[in-house]
Amino acid sequence: MRDSLSTVHDAPESISATPMPAHLDPWERRLLDDPNLLADIAFSMGGPFHVMYPARVAQNIREFRAAFERAGVQGTIYYGKKANKAACVARACAEHGAGVDVASIGELTAALAQGVRGGELMVTGPAKSDELLWLAARHDALIAVDDLGELDRLAASASPAMPARVLLRVLPAASASRFGMTGDEIGNALAVFGARASIRLEGFSFHLSGYDAVARAELAGELIARCLHARTLGHPAATVSIGGGFGVDYVPAEAAAAFGERVGRHWFHSGKSFDSYYPYHFAAPGAAMLAQILDHDDIARRLRDNGIRLAIEPGRALLAHAGCTVFRVQGSKTRHAHGRPYRLLTVDGTSLSLSEQWFDSEYLPDPLLWPARPGTPTPTSVGAATCLDSDMLSWRRVPLPRPAEVGDLLIYPNTAGYQMDSNESAFHELPIPPKVVLHDAPNARFRWTRDGS
Ligand SMILES: *Cc1c(COP(=O)(O)O)cnc(C)c1O
Repeated sequence: MRDSLSTVHDAPESISATPMPAHLDPWERRLLDDPNLLADIAFSMGGPFHVMYPARVAQNIREFRAAFERAGVQGTIYYGKKANKAACVARACAEHGAGVDVASIGELTAALAQGVRGGELMVTGPAKSDELLWLAARHDALIAVDDLGELDRLAASASPAMPARVLLRVLPAASASRFGMTGDEIGNALAVFGARASIRLEGFSFHLSGYDAVARAELAGELIARCLHARTLGHPAATVSIGGGFGVDYVPAEAAAAFGERVGRHWFHSGKSFDSYYPYHFAAPGAAMLAQILDHDDIARRLRDNGIRLAIEPGRALLAHAGCTVFRVQGSKTRHAHGRPYRLLTVDGTSLSLSEQWFDSEYLPDPLLWPARPGTPTPTSVGAATCLDSDMLSWRRVPLPRPAEVGDLLIYPNTAGYQMDSNESAFHELPIPPKVVLHDAPNARFRWTRDGS
């Protein structure tokens, strides 16, 4: 209501959000610069689709491995698979020496099907099903046990001839997480190992929310001490897993700062507001954050000196800059806010393919309008092809470089981590967007396939 009553006199400086230009990888620029490729794929798919470039996953794996090597630490990467279901990611892990962190039978078998060996799997999650525990033990996976009952069930189903490999997941002090075991529970668990030959204690794990390197380093130090104590009791504890939560740098620092300082309802379609946003600028992402953890408080030396292997479970960071999501503009209206015009688009998919809306927030890296053409900069909000007023991909008015027209493509960058499929659904009987995998071909060309084929 306020919008329609506003006069030019009290109108805000701009109804358009400040730009949040995503960092683009060379492969993304090639894709955007190609005069035909995106339109050809869009024509073939006939609806929204995701693009995956697994060569970038391989690069991310190499960067993490290099950080371990520089620190002289034996490290293992387990890709946190819930961040993206694409088969090509598990395949890239198998091909480039990373394991996979799974939490369901579906994830476990999908990883095996892409060539990840059982011994390269980590199985996490709360109170896992008997079936998952049995399968994990059969495949010699490392199993992060979350409670004592689960440990008993695992001990009962595994066999002393091939003891199940166990990490105990620790509940950090002062944490309100529902995951992990308290100090007392860990003490009781240690006693269970003494009595059961079908389980073997290989170490300890944690997974923290947030992106704090120091908190992870401090907890890693505690887990090293737990390993040393467990060894005095005769357990072969030689692994510490510090979970995931490695940051991704989506946009430059200045853009994120300007957005944070100036954001207000006057930027958003229907005056919408959000309480918080994901930290889209991250100064020391991925492998750089791992290096910070290893540098802190002598962690690298303590791991080395004690022959302890550091495991990490990056989800989002392993997928950094490895994918994007493409929608076709299907409708375009002009609306007014504070007396000024803006575009309100409808695209051919839903916010279920851009999951941030489902965390009561909005995905802030700006979508790119394709093809690039000169024009008049145009504030643009983006709605979905559903009958829900609230189904919006971008509530804020994105400063697009020209008015979007029906048939244009809108590309949301860097969506491989969590945005693509964590909320996918055939709501409205709309098809689930397929994933298209880009492969490097001779003469600096791309070829593409459907994921999983
Ligand atoms: C989700 C999850 C991860 C991956 O987290 P990211 O923030 O994507 O790196 C790793 N380990 C466990 C146990 C998880 O639940």
